[in-house]
Amino acid sequence: MLKLSDPTLLKTESFINGEWRSSSQTYAVKNPANGQHLADVANHGVEEAQEAVEAGYDAYKSWKKTTAAERAAVLMKWADLMEQHREDLATIMTSEQGKPLAEARGEINYSVAFFRWFAEEARRIYGDVIPTHNPALRNLVIKQPVGVVAAITPWNFPIAMVAKKLPAALAAGCTMVWKPSEETPLSGLAFAELGVRAGLPGGAFNVINTLDAPAIGKVFTESELVRKISFTGSTPVGKLLLRQSASTVKKVSMELGGNAPFIVFDDADIDAAVSGAIASKFRNAGQTCVCANRLLVQESVYDEFSEKFSKAVAELHVGDGMAAETTVGPLINQAALDKVEVLIDDAVSHGAQVALGGNRHDLGGTFYQPTVLTEVPFEARLSREEIFGPVAPIFRFSTEEEALEQANATEYGLACYFYARDIGRIWRVSEGLEYGMVGVNTGMISTPVAPFGGIKESGLGREGSKYGLDDYLEMKFMCIGGID
Ligand code: ADP
Repeated sequence: MLKLSDPTLLKTESFINGEWRSSSQTYAVKNPANGQHLADVANHGVEEAQEAVEAGYDAYKSWKKTTAAERAAVLMKWADLMEQHREDLATIMTSEQGKPLAEARGEINYSVAFFRWFAEEARRIYGDVIPTHNPALRNLVIKQPVGVVAAITPWNFPIAMVAKKLPAALAAGCTMVWKPSEETPLSGLAFAELGVRAGLPGGAFNVINTLDAPAIGKVFTESELVRKISFTGSTPVGKLLLRQSASTVKKVSMELGGNAPFIVFDDADIDAAVSGAIASKFRNAGQTCVCANRLLVQESVYDEFSEKFSKAVAELHVGDGMAAETTVGPLINQAALDKVEVLIDDAVSHGAQVALGGNRHDLGGTFYQPTVLTEVPFEARLSREEIFGPVAPIFRFSTEEEALEQANATEYGLACYFYARDIGRIWRVSEGLEYGMVGVNTGMISTPVAPFGGIKESGLGREGSKYGLDDYLEMKFMCIGGID
């Protein structure tokens, strides 16, 4: 059993219209580090999802009329409660997701920051007065909430992925129905319980647990009451939801897959590049959409970088996320482990060399050794596919043009990183990279104050920052006559 200071945070029901709803159908949630059974969670279906959408719609009628100050007060209280219960939230998260406890605590802090950011932004939903084109008319633009938002999120950041959407939606005056990942429902349910304690009105936020994601996705996308879909997950599922949303012409926000290049130029501070690459590659055991997927290193510094990088990777500590010394936890499930093995075998069969790791970890289960591959050819599948594991393939390039060409040779365009000191190169390369986010001399870029999101097949819309609120707002033009 989980040891929590507040055991009432361990919820196993869905949350519909302000009430916890159990089910005779349940499914087991297990700890990926040791297979331990954590809880049996309600497995709800289409009927409950429809009920949740209707509850969201009813709640919207009054929530949209609240003042910004009222909405901000709930978000601030919720943020305070997350901070107060950080240890319990982090314990639940590490137990069901596997990430090191320090990263789980970091995820709570990051989520809290989004709540506070959007609580403040709620007060700044300004409109415009447009100089008139006709003396008898006046032109105004007001911003209004889009309505009920349906959110679907993955397991890699069980709280942060919804905490980037929900406070923006609530701040704008929208309500939400949410389907967390079936792999990690417990974190989100504890998070929802804190929303209840923060005074969120019933129906303003509903959580549906299910093993039948496609059925719930259909309810969300086909309902006329839902006006927006906000999805974080894989590109194929994002494309499916986009197609399904076409039938009701919904607004959409899509945070999809990535294939982040991490480029090291010959004028880079190599030690700094090594630490940046470690942070970017191995966070959450490599299971994030902004993790460095391909390390591209200029030939004159290739050996120096690869050597120093491999040394730093060798110091990572694989283990159960609850242990203080752990820096790399298990992979989420067997399928994730199998994929890593297939991609490494493929790279090796194309001529890549295993500089470090390359095997399952002695701990068994879904633990995998942090791995460095060198001399990786571009034909290898992992130059095109998202690895989502603790594997760092290092590619070689010779010129700046070649680096840009290789970096952009993907249908994805989420995050990218590069290390260089020359100011001209920093501008040229930043402008030439076809990505929504560029980290220059840093491997960590995510913050509530800046727009997070991708271009190309990595997505639509932005989360966080002043722009993030626009995704949950409609613009209305008011043309007022009868003035004289
Ligand atoms: P990941 O590989 O990160 O799990 P997915 O895109 O498969 O990425 O899953 C992300 C979220 O999308 C999860 O909550 C999952 O249950 C949900 N999901 C998967 N397939 C569908 C679908 N057909 N319709 C709606 N949601 C789906």
